[in-house]
Amino acid sequence: MSLKYYIHGRRDQMKVALTFDDGPNPPRSDQVIEILNSRGVRGTFFVLGKWVDRWPQAFERIVRSGHVVGNHSYSHQAHLGDYDRAEVAIGNLLGRPTRFLRAHYFNFFTCLYSPVALAPDMKIVDADVNPADYAKTEARAIVEATLDHPALAGGSIIDLHDSTESDDDALRLARPLAMIEALPAIIDGLQAKGYELVGLDEMELVDPITWRPDGRGKFASEETRRMIDELGGAE
Ligand SMILES: [Zn+2]
Repeated sequence: MSLKYYIHGRRDQMKVALTFDDGPNPPRSDQVIEILNSRGVRGTFFVLGKWVDRWPQAFERIVRSGHVVGNHSYSHQAHLGDYDRAEVAIGNLLGRPTRFLRAHYFNFFTCLYSPVALAPDMKIVDADVNPADYAKTEARAIVEATLDHPALAGGSIIDLHDSTESDDDALRLARPLAMIEALPAIIDGLQAKGYELVGLDEMELVDPITWRPDGRGKFASEETRRMIDELGGAE
């Protein structure tokens, strides 16, 4: 048993994709949309089902603004059925299935038991550029961690966060602030390097990584591998 996931698109095209995890999160996701729209850039939002249920209008504003939405589980926990439950919440508003899924905490194991994750048209997508924005409070640090990231290249998928899975409202509103402050400079910097910023539906994903539950699969990055090691899950 195995599954495939992607961390980048074609390297011979100057396209990069900005992705935002853990929303919708009004008004933070709206602030992100405003920045993207003002620069004519599309993003991809990996939303949590529990926040879609709580803030359906914020979710619909993302969709109406022309951005891509993907499934990032219902409760951000390793529960069997969490991706399927999220798909009900998302699909009921979207009117069609999602095409992209991002596992949380590299929890590919529950994907193996999810009909939604294994659907033929579904692509499981991680990222090759992880600036760890959620752990930074200085906008400048997030800009540098993105634009100077060693993996940044044509086809890169950049992982940012416009929310958090935490039920702590104050934390959820505060955490994305530095990223939002950094976002205009990130977009300008990427465009200055010649990149076109696109939604995941405009990027041809290539070189899938095979993941097996015995831990012999390859992981997205050294960062990921360290996290798995710390959790005691892999070789
Ligand atoms: Zn997440």
